[in-house]
Amino acid sequence: MIAELICVGTELLMGQVLNTNAHFIAKELAPSGVDMYHQIVVGDNPQRLAEAVGTALRRADVVLLSGGLGPTDDDLTKETVAAALGKELVLFDDEWEKLQAWFTSKGRTIAPNNKKQAMFPADAIILPNPNGTAPGCIMEDGGKAAILMPGPPRELQPMFTDYVLPYLLKRSGHRLYSREVRIFGMGESDVAYRLDDLFKHQSNPTIAPYAKPGEVTLRVTARCKDEAEGEALVLPMLETIEAVLGDVVYDTHGRELAEVCHHMLIEQGRTLAVAESCTGGQLADAFITYPGSSAYLVEGDVTYSNDAKMRRLGVRRETLETVGAVSEECAREMAEGLRLSAKTDYALSTTGYAGPDPGEPDKPKGTVFVALASREETVVKQLHLFGDRDRIRHTAVLHALDLLRRKLCTK
Ligand code: AMP
Ligand code: MG
Repeated sequence: MIAELICVGTELLMGQVLNTNAHFIAKELAPSGVDMYHQIVVGDNPQRLAEAVGTALRRADVVLLSGGLGPTDDDLTKETVAAALGKELVLFDDEWEKLQAWFTSKGRTIAPNNKKQAMFPADAIILPNPNGTAPGCIMEDGGKAAILMPGPPRELQPMFTDYVLPYLLKRSGHRLYSREVRIFGMGESDVAYRLDDLFKHQSNPTIAPYAKPGEVTLRVTARCKDEAEGEALVLPMLETIEAVLGDVVYDTHGRELAEVCHHMLIEQGRTLAVAESCTGGQLADAFITYPGSSAYLVEGDVTYSNDAKMRRLGVRRETLETVGAVSEECAREMAEGLRLSAKTDYALSTTGYAGPDPGEPDKPKGTVFVALASREETVVKQLHLFGDRDRIRHTAVLHALDLLRRKLCTK
């Protein structure tokens, strides 16, 4: 099946808005087995849009359109596509009611020209838009179809994922099976370099990277007839990725790092306590997010001041006065002190400079120590993190979780 994309909007041609819808749709379409040979960008001009629609309908089985579904006079996509397919627009009463209710709920009055957002060809399939006023629609005509989506990315993206992609897959007789490989401790460019061969020779399954702060996710997607075939196609690729990248791969089922630790702690029947300074409770929260965490999480202490570190965790005054709170020694004493008082198998600690203050000359902003104390040893890791305060605190949590994951993996 061949698809063609038409992005409508003068703002795209003028460089005022980056065409992220083309990027998003192309990336989501790539693994689906639907081929896209052409993309068109056209302004809000009825003649040129009609011409583009005619060209695309000749070349492709399905024409995807983004933009021009708004209430104003320059929003012409629906009218133009309907005309090209010889269809007339009629008012859909239930869509008009929904639109009025949407305006009422926002305390706004509806303008008469909004009515055209509730008008479609009588045989159109309506695509709901919970994030805005303009529903999308599918106009089918013989063996061809035109699929119209609103321009704003936050409206188009869920509509594409929830309705358009399933429609395309059904029409093409395919389905998709994907698995996520979660990676911590290796940057995206390093991952891409090591997997260069896989990236270059991918066809089915495909492999696409997604970076999150501090982490990399690879989505491996197979085009298949059913789940069993999908799994058979994807598993060898997952095995290759794990063999190449090694233990930086922490999961292949799309689970978070904390979730992986959560399950391992439960399976191994171990207990945990966390002592936090710069992460301020986020580490404890990472576990408490998951129901059942009371099976292993005994306590979480946010010990922000030196006094609390001494009083609650037994950090030595001498440590704080000589090397300070942001130090390997302090992180070690925090974890060891809490593990003893909470009587747990493991204790994690965090202490560092999250900024925006510059920190100390030899320990600049982003210097964080994370420690893991267990019965047999205490491991402390010094980190040099970058980014703003939120990012530093978030990545510090991930590093602490990864220390624990690695420990639990050796059990
Ligand atoms: P429209 O549906 O044409 O009224 O578009 C509404 C808004 O969506 C525009 O003002 C743009 O900011 C945004 N938009 C439209 N097309 C695109 C696109 N291809 N990529 C990213 N944003 C877009
Ligand atoms: Mg527009």
